Amino acid sequence: MKRALLSAVLSAAFTLSAQAAEPIWDGNKVEMVSEKLAPDVYAFYAKDAKELNAKGGAAATSGGLIVGSKGALLVETMLNQRLNQQVQDLSKKLGGKPLIYAVNTSSHGDHSFGNMFMPASTRIVQHVVTRDYIANHLEDDKAFMIKNFGNGRGIEQIRARSGDVLVPAGGKLSLDLGGKTVDVIDFGFGQTGGDLWVWEPQSKVLWAGNPVIAAKPALPWLLDGNLVATLETLKRVHTFLPADARIVPGHGVPMTRDDLNWHINYLDTVRKQVQTAVDQGLSLEQTVKQVAMPEFAGYALFGWVHPGLNVPAAYKDLSKK
Ligand SMILES: [Zn+2]
Repeated sequence: MKRALLSAVLSAAFTLSAQAAEPIWDGNKVEMVSEKLAPDVYAFYAKDAKELNAKGGAAATSGGLIVGSKGALLVETMLNQRLNQQVQDLSKKLGGKPLIYAVNTSSHGDHSFGNMFMPASTRIVQHVVTRDYIANHLEDDKAFMIKNFGNGRGIEQIRARSGDVLVPAGGKLSLDLGGKTVDVIDFGFGQTGGDLWVWEPQSKVLWAGNPVIAAKPALPWLLDGNLVATLETLKRVHTFLPADARIVPGHGVPMTRDDLNWHINYLDTVRKQVQTAVDQGLSLEQTVKQVAMPEFAGYALFGWVHPGLNVPAAYKDLSKK
């Protein structure tokens, strides 16, 4: 069900992209660049991410690097060997410390397939839900990713390499890199139930992963439903962050804490309008029609994520009560 939905969404996205039948971003072509956010703190993102974000298009996976005196922590191991090599090469250039940790913010292949290419000495950090999901679903997930990201993008060869350090549900882990302590936090359901956020308190930089795809006009993709829980999680993150914090989103360039209000406001509006529809006794189909919210339509994938994923997720949540 979830897969069928995502497949429909991505197929639609392909036809929206310039060349039909091409993936929205190509794991054989993406070029990763780094941006220094503070001493020894870097965001990694696709070279064209800024331009794509601005026009509501879909950019490749973002990540980053935090360097301490003992070693470094990589955020996201990326989709395939090629992209994993790029972030390892960037890491080597930026201080050259051994990568002692690599964090997967979720089980999604574009954030975790690169685990197997990390040095044996690197400890993979995952949520326990992510570890379990990959252990049980890797082959299905690969087939699904090949279908949507294309053949010959390095996905065929992926084997699971699961976490060495696991974060339990609701947990928080503090990792000492030497002169820099990094917190890896589960703030609650964000998109998969195994969502981790990476917080570097000195520079006040937070890596979000997919619960925050990119700044406005990008919107959340509630692939596994749970609109109400996701909204509560984003509000919790907003409350946690100082006003001058920066957020590296899952698929874009760094943004501010204020930028998060766009996502919260969107989910809040969906929740309120769907609640009204449920109170009126409308069917899902009638609700989708009534909760059109054209003010959020600037996102290239709006026509699919809003009526196809997010409104149904809210309808399901709010009809149970
Ligand atoms: Zn992603």
